[in-house]
Amino acid sequence: MKSETKTCQNCKSSFVIEPEDFNFYEKIKIPPPTWCPECRMIRRLVWRNEHSLFKRSNSAPGKKETLISVYHPEENIITYDRETWWGDSWDPCNYGQDYDLSRPFFEQFRELLERVPHMPLFDSKSINSRFCNVVVEQKNCYLTSAAWRSEDCMYCNRLWHGKFTHDSYTSFATEFCYENVYCSDSSRLFFSRESEGCLDSYFLYDCRNCSNCILCTNLRHKSYCIENVQYSKEEYEIKKKSMALDTRSGIKRARKRFEQLWRDAFHKHLKLTNNVNVVGDQVSNSRNCFSIFDFRDEAENVKYACWGAHGLKDAYDVGPGCGDGCELNYEGISVGVQNSQIFLSATVWYSREIFYSFMMNNCSHCFGCAQMNGKQYCILNKQYTKVEYEKMVPKIIEHMKNLPYTDKQDKIYKFGEFFPSELSPFAYNETVAQDYFPLDRDMAAAKGFRWREYVPGKYNITILGKDLPDSISEVSDSILNEVIECEITKKPFQITEQELSFYRRFDLPLPSIHPDERHNQRLKLRNPMILRKRQCYFGDKEVFTTYLPESEGGPKKVVCAEHYNKEVY
Ligand SMILES: [Zn+2]
Ligand SMILES: [Zn+2]
Repeated sequence: MKSETKTCQNCKSSFVIEPEDFNFYEKIKIPPPTWCPECRMIRRLVWRNEHSLFKRSNSAPGKKETLISVYHPEENIITYDRETWWGDSWDPCNYGQDYDLSRPFFEQFRELLERVPHMPLFDSKSINSRFCNVVVEQKNCYLTSAAWRSEDCMYCNRLWHGKFTHDSYTSFATEFCYENVYCSDSSRLFFSRESEGCLDSYFLYDCRNCSNCILCTNLRHKSYCIENVQYSKEEYEIKKKSMALDTRSGIKRARKRFEQLWRDAFHKHLKLTNNVNVVGDQVSNSRNCFSIFDFRDEAENVKYACWGAHGLKDAYDVGPGCGDGCELNYEGISVGVQNSQIFLSATVWYSREIFYSFMMNNCSHCFGCAQMNGKQYCILNKQYTKVEYEKMVPKIIEHMKNLPYTDKQDKIYKFGEFFPSELSPFAYNETVAQDYFPLDRDMAAAKGFRWREYVPGKYNITILGKDLPDSISEVSDSILNEVIECEITKKPFQITEQELSFYRRFDLPLPSIHPDERHNQRLKLRNPMILRKRQCYFGDKEVFTTYLPESEGGPKKVVCAEHYNKEVY
């Protein structure tokens, strides 16, 4: 079979399907895509709200408390509290529908979403973790999303095996860490980027196995360095003290300097560690992958995937949220953690052989189902026998080909297309689509996406962010009662007890900006998940990179692997 160039049904740009791609689609018996990889990713992202949380009512019988949920109160969705959802008092099959051969599948699926009770926040097997979403096996965490197997962490997004890690983005196995982006296997590391195996340090970029260093870049196996200059332990301590890193003003100064140092540093064109035949960014210990981002350990034969760790085999178009012992998954978002053969679905854990389903835990052989735990052989939440199910599914697939769904912009969704974004229970700007492909209201409308403005609740602000004490040593316990106004967005926020003791323990100043805005600022420190070609800084060759061109604010010294190894190691 030869490669084929197709025109994307959505954006009309051309994209290529390679012979090995055709083999994969043949293996899973799903027709090749009609949308380009980027449009496919955005379409999936619109089905994942990670961190826009709302108050809404609890519809579980006999329960009155208000819930915190990913669903906006205006959204036509029913939510049960977590305890009821996981309990035995209700059965999602009671909301089952007969499959109607006179109407498109997606129409019927949206109706199911409006009838069946939903889990308010997506979570499986977590303990004592408030306001955490799309998380699995979390313990004692708070306001953390897209995370698994972490303990005592707060305000993180994309976290794996974190402990006492706060305000970090895409972190693997870090402890006692704060304000890091893409850091791993580190302890007491603060305000750092893309560093690994580091200890007791601040403002590091691309450092490995360093300890007691501040404002360093491209450094290996060093201690007591500031701005890459070696000091004695005594000199280092004196200099560190003069930087006043326990104050917000000291951190602000250091941040500014760090930005300049980052700009002047060497940047490897793609951050790939110990891979074989991988084109992607921020990937380690993997083989035969293309267009894969933010994946740690053991991805194999994977294309168009992002955010995951520890084992993902033979998968296309998955994530954020993939990996942890998964195989043969296609077009899925939040389909990590011991899944196999999950197709065209959103938020599925510990399951196999699932098509077109939304929020499934420990299920198998389900088609077009939602909000189920421990079920098998169901279609639109209706229970069938194995024999009936196996007879019905090919009929439905045929029906989806013959009577496809057409969206408001006349795009056609036959069998093999992911859920149309206009049927998502989330507005574009509530989802991670806004994190990775930001739009404004008008741009979103032009592309047919829903949009919802943020409406602030009623709060009595008791202190302005700018008036918070500069040093953590000046903060008294009464701060726990204050409602702080974010210096940037004016959104109110509070400091929790667990958080305050963390700042005190590590001599870190109080943040003066809202956790959402802190997340937004960290997001700006990552590269877009788009592979582009660029000339190595030394001019020897053209390489793939995710860095923006210099004209769009990218750094100057983006280098090929050979030059990186020469300059940095
Ligand atoms: Zn496209
Ligand atoms: Zn080069």
